Amino acid sequence: MITVKTFYLNELRECCHILSDETGECLIVDPGICSQSEQQRITKYISDNGLKPVKLLNTHGHFDHVMGNSFITATYNIPTYIHAADKELLHHVKNTCRMFGYEIENPSDDIVELSEKEPVTFGNSSLDVIHTPGHTWGSVCFYSENEKLCLSGDTLFAGSCGRTDLPEGDTHAMIDSLINKLVKIIKPETRILPGHGTETTMLEELAHNPYLRSSNWL
Ligand SMILES: [Zn+2]
Repeated sequence: MITVKTFYLNELRECCHILSDETGECLIVDPGICSQSEQQRITKYISDNGLKPVKLLNTHGHFDHVMGNSFITATYNIPTYIHAADKELLHHVKNTCRMFGYEIENPSDDIVELSEKEPVTFGNSSLDVIHTPGHTWGSVCFYSENEKLCLSGDTLFAGSCGRTDLPEGDTHAMIDSLINKLVKIIKPETRILPGHGTETTMLEELAHNPYLRSSNWL
């Protein structure tokens, strides 16, 4: 059984999710930590609950999702999992952060490339990787059909989807990811935990999210 704790971090209110199971092992997903107080909120939750972080996952390489990577990997000595197509964004994140007024350390180069062929495991649990390019080329969603849980990053939001107008965005890829991947793969009863905003369900999104209907994209 996976337990999820969500923290809203940095000025963009990015969602960092910590997933743990009955073994006490945990994953830290998208640590957009930008201050000492945010560092303390995360480390306190982990120590208060006796958790053992084993992997850092990134849904994509945007700075608001990865700016705390260096802190997490240095604190817990764990590898970073990111899709190969977003490694370049991660590589430049120190400079990107500087443009937005944040000073961070370079992220660790202990990187494991995410692939749809290989689920991410921790404790007794595992998450499938769904490659969903569109917001960035290396965007992924993490999905457990058993646990009825999907971390949708900046691909799918409650009532919306991620922007595709940034240099690494692609609207056609986004349509393909939403319509031909998420709609087909994710079961309706699934909890959707996005990278920004509120939690939702696939049932709710199938009923009301205009971006999940191909006719609305024509
Ligand atoms: Zn993003």
